[in-house]
Amino acid sequence: MFQSLQDKLDKALHNIQGRGKITEINVAETVKEIRRALVDADVNYKVAKDLTKRVQDKAMGQNVLTSLTPGQLMTKIVHDELVTLMGGSQEGISLAGKPTVILIAGLQGSGKTTFSGKLANYLKSKRGKNPLLVACDVYRPAAVDQLKVLGSQIGVEVYSEPGATNPSLIAENAIKYANESKYDVVIVDTAGRLAIDEQMMNEIKSVHYFIKPQETLFVVDSMTGQDAVNTAKAFNEALNFDGVVLTKLDGDTRGGAALTIRSVVEKPIKFISTGEKMEALDLFYPERMADRILG
Ligand code: GDP
Repeated sequence: MFQSLQDKLDKALHNIQGRGKITEINVAETVKEIRRALVDADVNYKVAKDLTKRVQDKAMGQNVLTSLTPGQLMTKIVHDELVTLMGGSQEGISLAGKPTVILIAGLQGSGKTTFSGKLANYLKSKRGKNPLLVACDVYRPAAVDQLKVLGSQIGVEVYSEPGATNPSLIAENAIKYANESKYDVVIVDTAGRLAIDEQMMNEIKSVHYFIKPQETLFVVDSMTGQDAVNTAKAFNEALNFDGVVLTKLDGDTRGGAALTIRSVVEKPIKFISTGEKMEALDLFYPERMADRILG
């Protein structure tokens, strides 16, 4: 069974309980354990190394309180550091536009269409909005049908233009339609590819340029580990997106990709997706993710 980081640290530091201060000698081994635990949880090696260096600096010379074991004290320092790195607090989405236009981007299979449906459901049921979903995948009719199925499940209209070939025009027409029909949020689901290619990036850049969304959300599968980070970098360079949606966190991933993406692209994670059902969507709380990463 997986031993929690705190147990490991308690073991590594057992000899200093009740002896005053944490010193360089007993911290070195512990820091190695922390780094290993973070890398096991899918945190990128460089991010884990920088983080543990800061933890080491912070821990040095700290008084070992009688109420906390040294392991608990170290775990608390790591936990606080993780929370800070993940942005500290929850960051929501801006709903200021009239209508608010939200562009959903990411690779095929990352969970974009499912998330588009969930976001519409969340805005409708929790935020009192009247959203319109837009199907902009001109390559896969099945993707349009999938969005329509979700739309009918949650009672949200899906705009599509069968046979149209230009996603920028579809999105533009959808926004006009939303204005005429009094929809206050437009969620644009775009086509994804299995890997990043130039044509795909140019297409989504063009949609982004035409519709000037208030929010561009990048959707990424948390199970893809370090690849998720490279994909995030490429999409951020192309779109300068506003936030990240991490999907498939109901799987056995420990969530370290969240920390790495946040550190590398410096954009907040706004939502996490935890299942295939329309209700399986949560706002992202750095505290909870830090707990998960520490096991
Ligand atoms: P898209 O190609 O990016 O639009 O991805 P889809 O929304 O079609 O999702 C791809 C697959 O992943 C589908 O089978 C979804 O049901 C599934 N999926 C999406 N989000 C989640 C999630 O959070 N958890 C799990 N377990 N499956 C998900």
